[in-house]
Amino acid sequence: MIPILRTVADLRALARGWKAKGETLGVVPTMGALHDGHLSLARRARAECDRVITTIFVNPKQFNNPEDLKKYPRSEEADAALLATVPVDAIFAPPVEEVYPDGFITTVSMTGVAQPLEGHMRPGHFDGVATVVTKLFGMSLADRGYFGHKDWQQLQVVLRLVRDLNLPVEVVGCETIREADGLAMSSRNIRLTAEGRAKAPVLYAAITRAADDIRAGHADRMAIREAAETMREAGFERVEYIELRDAETLMPSDDPRRPRRMLAAAWVDGVRLIDNIPV
Ligand code: AMP
Repeated sequence: MIPILRTVADLRALARGWKAKGETLGVVPTMGALHDGHLSLARRARAECDRVITTIFVNPKQFNNPEDLKKYPRSEEADAALLATVPVDAIFAPPVEEVYPDGFITTVSMTGVAQPLEGHMRPGHFDGVATVVTKLFGMSLADRGYFGHKDWQQLQVVLRLVRDLNLPVEVVGCETIREADGLAMSSRNIRLTAEGRAKAPVLYAAITRAADDIRAGHADRMAIREAAETMREAGFERVEYIELRDAETLMPSDDPRRPRRMLAAAWVDGVRLIDNIPV
């Protein structure tokens, strides 16, 4: 059984013991309902660090939609069983009061890369992420933090955060893990009905096609418009955005010499899906 820690004091005591022996610590922050995408991060941390902790915390501060928070899947026992297959050394799964005790008033607030796309659609989301990531790094004394490309903008936000606040943590970005039909794994996918699940892979297929077309010389705008059309025809209720952006700043980019990323968010079957790919 992998130990599950509930308090910062226990987490710190464990981490300090490891540090005293000169061991490196990798931390994988998650919100639980784990799948192979999360496990790929934990396995990478396992390969690169002496010690690995996965955190499971559904962070209320990063939810702009109370309904989404309420419906967020929780499955700690199953998560612990999956993490035992990696295995990680410990799980940190604190209650909300441990992370945000009475009197908590500090927020890490970011502009720039945190503003467009997800920042625009989900006001306050990235301040919530930046705040909890700063806290998790501080609580755990992490040497490395592992984050997925699946949440590309979040990864850029965390890279910027660590630089701006001189946090002594190396941020490692990991490839998106997909289902066989291309759908990016996500904890929210289990909310899809069979019908929604059948439509969902069209998101990845449509942006892949658009990226291919752009690389082949088609106009960016046209390729993106076609991708949105494909998704609506497949039964997506709403395409929130499909954008070609500078991969690091997330600002609009028509400079093909800089790394660019196509990012999309869309609703199918009442579930909001996001995905992104290099262009
Ligand atoms: P979450 O539990 O959704 O907050 O995700 C925790 C971490 O796992 C984040 O760094 C995500 O980017 C990463 N992650 C989620 N889904 C995937 C995936 N399909 N492939 C790779 N990483 C992922």
